[in-house]
Amino acid sequence: MTTHRPLYSQLPAIDKLLRDASFSTLLNTFGHTQVVNILREMLNIAREHIRTQQALPCWNDDWAAHAQLQLASAQRSALLPVFNLTGTVLHTNLGRALQAEAAIEAVTRAMRYPVTLEYDLHGAQRGHRDRALSGLLCELTGAEDACIVNNNAAAVLLMLAACANGEEVVVSRGELVEIGGAFRIPDVMRQAGCQLVEVGTTNRTHLKDYRQAAGENTALLMKVHTSNYQVAGFTKTVSEAELVELGNELNIPVVTDLGSGSLVDLSQWGLPEEPMPQQLIAAGVSLVSFSGDKLLGGPQAGIIVGKKELIARIQQHPLKRALRADKMTLAALEATLRLYQHPETLAARLPTLRLLTRDAGEITTLAQRLLPAFEGKFGEHFTLLVEPCLSQIGSGSLPVDRLPSAALTFTPKDGRGTTLATLTQSLRELAKPIIGRISDGRLWLDLRCLEDEAGLLENLHP
Ligand SMILES: *Cc1c(COP(=O)(O)O)cnc(C)c1O
Repeated sequence: MTTHRPLYSQLPAIDKLLRDASFSTLLNTFGHTQVVNILREMLNIAREHIRTQQALPCWNDDWAAHAQLQLASAQRSALLPVFNLTGTVLHTNLGRALQAEAAIEAVTRAMRYPVTLEYDLHGAQRGHRDRALSGLLCELTGAEDACIVNNNAAAVLLMLAACANGEEVVVSRGELVEIGGAFRIPDVMRQAGCQLVEVGTTNRTHLKDYRQAAGENTALLMKVHTSNYQVAGFTKTVSEAELVELGNELNIPVVTDLGSGSLVDLSQWGLPEEPMPQQLIAAGVSLVSFSGDKLLGGPQAGIIVGKKELIARIQQHPLKRALRADKMTLAALEATLRLYQHPETLAARLPTLRLLTRDAGEITTLAQRLLPAFEGKFGEHFTLLVEPCLSQIGSGSLPVDRLPSAALTFTPKDGRGTTLATLTQSLRELAKPIIGRISDGRLWLDLRCLEDEAGLLENLHP
């Protein structure tokens, strides 16, 4: 210890540092508390450094500059905006659907001012928070009533807890899905207090399987959309319409977890078809649940539409209070749904649809325009090319369908993976990180989701 005494005594005292002119800007920007905290931390690290390395830390001659760096990096938001050039439009880890401008404005208003969330301007009595949106959802889906909760996982849990607690729910073995993030139908059943009755086999389930399984204690016949996988080959599933016929005969409601659920027919833009809630409602399904932030293109939410009497049971269940959506979500969802009232402009105003319907030719032209800027920065160590590629929809929607797109690809001239890793790291360290995808020894930047071309260039060459 004593041998290091002179080094320890060269460390500055905090109060002396704070009086130094070099700290006045830092104190103004970050405040006394944060600056003192970071200095204490730096001092501890410095003492530890002396103890283990018998040397002063590298920043000993400029504590202010080092403190500035530390404070600035600690201030970096945990929800940092990035460029999603992964080629996956609805990227769960990057926050799924981007919100429409109308939704952004609606959320901002709901945050800034008091709003009629549960206040009825006509009756001056307490309103019910899903009321305004129920009307809109009924208009768009043909359902009798609606309920909105935190996400579709919550919607499924609530639907089962409210309509089948202590009773049996019949589901096909081919539909016992797991969605990323530990959502598994059998586990959700258990949590909702229902008993799962599996019918059929992994690849084939027939109507007679449901009929045989339905009994005294059956509360629901359930269909789950196998959104993130596809069973191909020798398969048989029972359609909702057939199941509804059986349900009517046995007096058992049919419910569907639709997962994504698009409110418009995507095939009109040449996109793969995804079942729509309105089709299931028309087929007589009693309850349909789907996500707000998948193909719908709105905020994270779970939407249940269906029969008035069952929705009333759901609305009155204690879990509804625990799973309800907040005013910002409801504001964004309302604004998003209103865009669907004007389908002619939907593809231009709803970012999810705008990105999904972007033409491969336009994306290729964009890639060619951006090529020189990337070559200027990375051309020394990488061969850059504009290449055709395939984008994904993402979030488990339409898992096997791909959309023709274009990418900038970076192949390391030395052929080494470490060079590629350094590149992806440096793109991640930009003020607004660029996230791509590595495949076949190359980095791919799929430009389908790039709308802010100027921002990207500015970010590359500040
Ligand atoms: C995505 C999905 C869910 C979960 O929805 P979240 O909104 O992510 O909670 C549940 N079921 C199916 C079939 C899904 O595709």
